[in-house]
Amino acid sequence: VAQKHDIVIIGAGGAGITAAIEAKEAGADVIILEKMPMAGGNTLISGAEYAAANNWLQKKEGIEDNVELHVQDTLKGGDYKAKEELVRIMAENALAGAEWLRDEVGVVWEDELMFFGGHSVKRSLIPLGASGREIVTKLVAKAEELEIPILLNTKATALITDESGKVIGVEATSEDTNYTFNTNKAVIIASGGFGSNVEMRVKYNFEIDETILSTNTTGSTGDGIVMAEEIGANLLGMEYIQTYPICDPLTGTLLYYDDARLYGHTIIANKEGKRFVEELGRRDEMSMAIKAQTGNVCYELLDQNGFVASKLQENHGPELEYLYKNELLVKADTLEEAADFFGIDAVELQNTVDRYNSYVDSGNDPEFNKRSLPSKIEVGPFYILKAAPAVHHTMGGIEINENAQVLDKEGNVIDGLFAAGEVTGGIQGNNRLGSNALADITVFGRIAGQNAAK
Ligand code: ADP
Repeated sequence: VAQKHDIVIIGAGGAGITAAIEAKEAGADVIILEKMPMAGGNTLISGAEYAAANNWLQKKEGIEDNVELHVQDTLKGGDYKAKEELVRIMAENALAGAEWLRDEVGVVWEDELMFFGGHSVKRSLIPLGASGREIVTKLVAKAEELEIPILLNTKATALITDESGKVIGVEATSEDTNYTFNTNKAVIIASGGFGSNVEMRVKYNFEIDETILSTNTTGSTGDGIVMAEEIGANLLGMEYIQTYPICDPLTGTLLYYDDARLYGHTIIANKEGKRFVEELGRRDEMSMAIKAQTGNVCYELLDQNGFVASKLQENHGPELEYLYKNELLVKADTLEEAADFFGIDAVELQNTVDRYNSYVDSGNDPEFNKRSLPSKIEVGPFYILKAAPAVHHTMGGIEINENAQVLDKEGNVIDGLFAAGEVTGGIQGNNRLGSNALADITVFGRIAGQNAAK
């Protein structure tokens, strides 16, 4: 089956649907191809917090911030491996993107901010329910309103080029049909990362082998990266693969219990009852520190006050049920009882907690320099989660310029081809800070859609 559209978009995650909306609003005829039976990708299963300097809640809370600080935090967080001009585009346009999601797409943001590791200040907006569901549901509704078709169960397999190298279409397959989608204007690749593709992970970074689980959906197999490379696109930073520290040790799923850590309320200990890392540190540092502990796991401790303040029951009730059932989470009246459940050294854990509480009093953690100390761990019941790191985000991918145009190995623009979202490389350096992904995919999704429609 052959069809012709102005723009074909590969992938119906956050970046792809955002690009589609912008392109359609600019007057283009757009179609989205999605290989899975539903839209959303990793955006759907993420917490979807969104870093934006100078946002409205910062103003309300009197938090001083600026775009340059967001740029510097991102560069530093990625060990200065990012393309600075792309980081700048992300940071400069992040607030406008969040407002666009709010005002044009109807995304509801919670009335508070989250503090993510590596950011100098609290600058991360939280979507309703602290879940990507809010973002994806509203993006899909907007796409429907604009009559943008999302073709599910349809996998893009190759880019089509003309003799000049310009991209003029996409080959795709569904269960019973082979498609050729020709384009008048452009193809936008928004097919996400390759966190679920073990073979591809190991090809670029042998350490991230099959022993490490993944938080990603099964759709994150790097298809767009491979298709782009086949027609000469340059790839950047493919070896930079991020693990998330707090995941289900049985399945790799990211655990939202970890919200409590981001609010600052938890401490992380090992089986010996000792802290070993800053709880609001970088994801890579925390992950590697956890991997080095007894059993390659950590124990995240929370008291009742922190539990309530983190809204875990309201936002993530079903996850808590699952965790109790699978003995990954315990709730007990005393710290000792909770520690015993996992065979943690209870005496040492109590010492650790006492010391930590004294740091909360003094406002200073001389052991690990935890950057936010909002509450003590003192009021029962106490909660302990057992967790392990898993692959979360692939920083590497297709090289783009400030217009989201794909570049070849010589740095020239490949005509007719744009990319946005996790499929691109060079924006997050070798380590993405939490809540920068939503800013990245929104900002570059919008840019890709607007430019592709020109
Ligand atoms: P981002 O955060 O960059 O938007 P997501 O992971 O949220 O990335 O979305 C990427 C989407 O692309 C997923 O829904 C995934 O299933 C889809 N996808 C991946 N490969 C293909 C492909 N070959 N054809 C069509 N869709 C794809």
